[in-house]
Amino acid sequence: MAQAQSAEIIELMSDEDEKKTRKTKSKGYNSNCVNFKCRSGINMKVAPSFACAFYGVSLEKKKKRIICKECFNAALQHQKVIFVLIFVTLIKNKTKN
Ligand SMILES: [Zn+2]
Repeated sequence: MAQAQSAEIIELMSDEDEKKTRKTKSKGYNSNCVNFKCRSGINMKVAPSFACAFYGVSLEKKKKRIICKECFNAALQHQKVIFVLIFVTLIKNKTKN
């Protein structure tokens, strides 16, 4: 009998935990990040133009675009790759001449 009772208590507790995590998850989706697919929304800051361009967001002067740290880093990483590609192309062109 005692075993069955403790099992029931554990079940109730895990159910409560599930409800709590669902609530926090739904809050996470409510981000104003420039990345519409964003699920993070942590450490929001003003989005630079290159980040807006990366996520295909139009730049409106009146509207302030914000981006979370995660999405900013993703855009920045992409920016770095583009920069390296341009740099390499420039060097190649230089050596050709
Ligand atoms: Zn984001």
